[in-house]
Amino acid sequence: MSLISGVISAVDIIGAILMIAFAFMSLRLAMRLVRREPHNIIHAYLMWICIAMAVFAVSRSAVHIIRQSLDLVGNAGAWQFIGPYSGAVNTFTLIVVGAVTLFFEYTWSIYRQILSDKQILQATRGELMDLNENLERRVDERTRALADSERKYREVFEVSRDMILLSDLEGRIFALNPAGYEILGGAADVSAAHIEYCQDFLFRGKDDWKKIVTVIRRRQWLPDMEFDMVNARGEKRRILLSASLVPGPRNDEGRIYFLIKDIEKRRMIKEQMARADKLASIGELSAGIAHEINNPLGIILGYAQLMLREESIPSQRSEDLKTIERHVRTCKVIVEDLLNFARVSPAKKEMNDIHGLIDDVIKFTYYDSGFDRVVIEKDYDPDVKPLFIDEKKIKQVFVNLIVNAKYAMGEKGSIKISTCLNEPDKRVEVRVSDTGCGISEQDMLKIFDPFFTTKPTGVGTGLGLSVSYGIVKNHGGDIQVKSEPGAGAVFTVLLPLEPHHEHIIGWEK
Ligand code: ADP
Repeated sequence: MSLISGVISAVDIIGAILMIAFAFMSLRLAMRLVRREPHNIIHAYLMWICIAMAVFAVSRSAVHIIRQSLDLVGNAGAWQFIGPYSGAVNTFTLIVVGAVTLFFEYTWSIYRQILSDKQILQATRGELMDLNENLERRVDERTRALADSERKYREVFEVSRDMILLSDLEGRIFALNPAGYEILGGAADVSAAHIEYCQDFLFRGKDDWKKIVTVIRRRQWLPDMEFDMVNARGEKRRILLSASLVPGPRNDEGRIYFLIKDIEKRRMIKEQMARADKLASIGELSAGIAHEINNPLGIILGYAQLMLREESIPSQRSEDLKTIERHVRTCKVIVEDLLNFARVSPAKKEMNDIHGLIDDVIKFTYYDSGFDRVVIEKDYDPDVKPLFIDEKKIKQVFVNLIVNAKYAMGEKGSIKISTCLNEPDKRVEVRVSDTGCGISEQDMLKIFDPFFTTKPTGVGTGLGLSVSYGIVKNHGGDIQVKSEPGAGAVFTVLLPLEPHHEHIIGWEK
């Protein structure tokens, strides 16, 4: 063997060994990569190539070493037998490499698709998680805003001094605020059953309700309207009502929101102002007339008495003179009442015990006008201290009230006189209640008018209450009345605890 062929053989053998070594090192590396990232398709591809290359290297290199060895031992003929096997293995491994490479293109595109799907999925997941977190935050914010607004509206509902009422078109009440319970007669007295329907309290029965609902249906709202209602305690109250309709899905399914104001106090003040106004003008007029009449009456009375004294024996003439004297005296009482009403005579106020004063009046009226079948009950509050009042005038007030009560009861009945210290309002309340015939709604508006009387001519002048009203007003007080026909009457005289500086109501506007 020549040197050159010896070198070539050595290079062939060393190259074959190195080829096997490199092929297995590459395979080892590829396998490590696959182990690290089992789903990485490039690593998988590399591994399969390395396997094929390793098989190829083993097949080729082993065959080359065997061939060289056969040449060395002089048995080259044996190669004829092994050579085709080695060629077949080599071809097969190269086919595997080619097939894997061709297949890789297809696998790679699937892998890329999977990768992009995975990325999309991951991005979508991220978005979903973000949305989920945001959704929770948004729901949280909305819930808080809703709770805030609910609290705000509940507060308006709870603290409103006016009645807020929600009902259906049948009048069935769904919601009523505390002021509403109060106006309807006090929460404690109004059970759920009592306040089922608006028309039970607010309107005079079903007919009124139907009219109101018809208007609300037509206009969708109701402007401020005044109504009278009787609450669960039986008290009459004037109310100012407005309403709005929120239509429902069907014609008969709307809800009505009512806003109702209790204007009873306002009405009473208005009435009192009107009364004071009326009394002021009547006072002005009557004081003028009373002054003019008072002097001629005095003269007529004087002359009548003079002429009567000259009549020594009873005769028709003396009877006539007595009739004149009696009637002139009646006229003088009326004129005096008129002057009192006009407040011309100034009050003489000093500290007076109101209980002693009422006792005197009771004694006086009892003996004076056959009170024997009328029971007078007294219920005095011991805390009531002497008041700065004109004894004579206040006595006149109670005489009027007691005489009126007695007259209203006829022969039989009972009068109750009670006093009570109302510290918060700084006043004393004297209540005169009777079990008499009571006062009708129409008369109630007129009883303080001068000359209004339901008594027969000659019995009543219609000045008692108007004079009493003037006297009490001049003491800084007030007279209130509560009465129902057939159920007696309660007159309450309110007198201030503090000394009051006199106003001449009759002249004052
Ligand atoms: P007079 O007593 O002269 O009629 P008043 O001013 O005192 O005048 O009373 C006016 C009217 O008020 C009476 O005619 C009567 O109709 C009514 N009235 C007053 N007090 C009572 C009472 N206690 N019960 C019923 N009606 C009363």
